[in-house]
Amino acid sequence: MPDYPGLKDNGEGRQMNAESKIVPEWGEATKLVRGGLNRSPHGETSEALYLNSGFVYPDAETAAARFAGDDDGYVYARYGNPTVTMFEERLALLDGAEACYATASGMSAVYGALTAQLKAGDHIVASRALFGSCHQIVMNILPRFGITSELVDGADLDAWRKAIRPGTVCVFLETPSNPTLEVLDLAAVSEIAHAAGAKVVVDNVFATSILQKPFELGADVVIYSGTKHIDGQGRCLGGAIVSSKQFKEDNLKPLLRHMGPSISPFNAWVLLKGLETLGLRVRAQSHAAHQIADRLQSLPGVTSVLYPHLDSHPQVELCRRQMSLGGTMVTFTVDGGRKRAFDILRRLQLVDISNNLGDAKSLITHPASTTHRAIGEEARERVGIGEGMLRLSVGLEEPNDLIADLTQAISSGV
Ligand SMILES: *Cc1c(COP(=O)(O)O)cnc(C)c1O
Repeated sequence: MPDYPGLKDNGEGRQMNAESKIVPEWGEATKLVRGGLNRSPHGETSEALYLNSGFVYPDAETAAARFAGDDDGYVYARYGNPTVTMFEERLALLDGAEACYATASGMSAVYGALTAQLKAGDHIVASRALFGSCHQIVMNILPRFGITSELVDGADLDAWRKAIRPGTVCVFLETPSNPTLEVLDLAAVSEIAHAAGAKVVVDNVFATSILQKPFELGADVVIYSGTKHIDGQGRCLGGAIVSSKQFKEDNLKPLLRHMGPSISPFNAWVLLKGLETLGLRVRAQSHAAHQIADRLQSLPGVTSVLYPHLDSHPQVELCRRQMSLGGTMVTFTVDGGRKRAFDILRRLQLVDISNNLGDAKSLITHPASTTHRAIGEEARERVGIGEGMLRLSVGLEEPNDLIADLTQAISSGV
């Protein structure tokens, strides 16, 4: 075993406890299984769940040193917990980043990452095709605190150039977008933002770090909802902000330690174990999704299929350059509007109706009446969400079973 910085071993080079932040020579699969591993003196195989909020000190001097920041031991779970730290280190390692701050949900990660760098008078530019709650934060909540915000058509680089101005502190974008699977050029947007001194915050929930590496393309901060693919088994909420060490120390800690959107150690443990199989699951789900997208194109009454790696995707060249596979989500539109879409949902026997995504179970939703109901018809039209649109999150079932279920539900009654 190579001598990694900070690696405590058993004297024979075996990994017992990896305190090191970066182990760049490990391949992705190894990082996912062993990154951040910090075994207790009991030598447990699986990462330990430290389900505790407080910590005790051997003496008052140690307590004083911890509060003074001279000793980096734990003080209180709102500030840190050993299970949470393992999750943070594993995710940072996966993204090739220096640091990670885990949060209670994906939305507290989005809100924390933005408000940790914005103040009254600042300006933020975001892409229009945003997850519903992200849209609320950017357009309705931040302006209440004197931050001006503006949405642009994310695929239009000139629109970014025009919108970003002195005083633009950061840009925020999601790619692929929900539910239209529009793919934005991360390298190009980052270049425009950086030229104006703005930081780039990327919501990488749909692609995951397995398929898309935003830091390699210029992102400064990357957000995850652990609830989606990282858990991937419908059990708990969680989120994370991945960034430089400096951003974590100077921006995130001074806000989030006091605001308190801390992840439960139990949820962090579930997500930590979820990371072990993330690569296997996301790749299998993506291969199945590609197969299903292909098949949907030939079904009667299906007027469009959106999938990043299909030849028919409007930005297929960018999709293939930026994402190693097309992802686990497929969006398609049927003629006959809401009635036909609801009929299809009623007829599905295997695929569940649910607005969640990234799960082992295949889930389907009608965005216009659920996830994107609140943004209103005009905003839906603007981003291309019609009444006949359905968003499918492809799970881990046998792809042929999913294709059979979708085929019977779509073909009957035509
Ligand atoms: C689900 C989701 C979020 C929010 O995550 P939660 O864990 O539900 O708070 C943010 N962005 C995208 C793209 C999502 O799909």
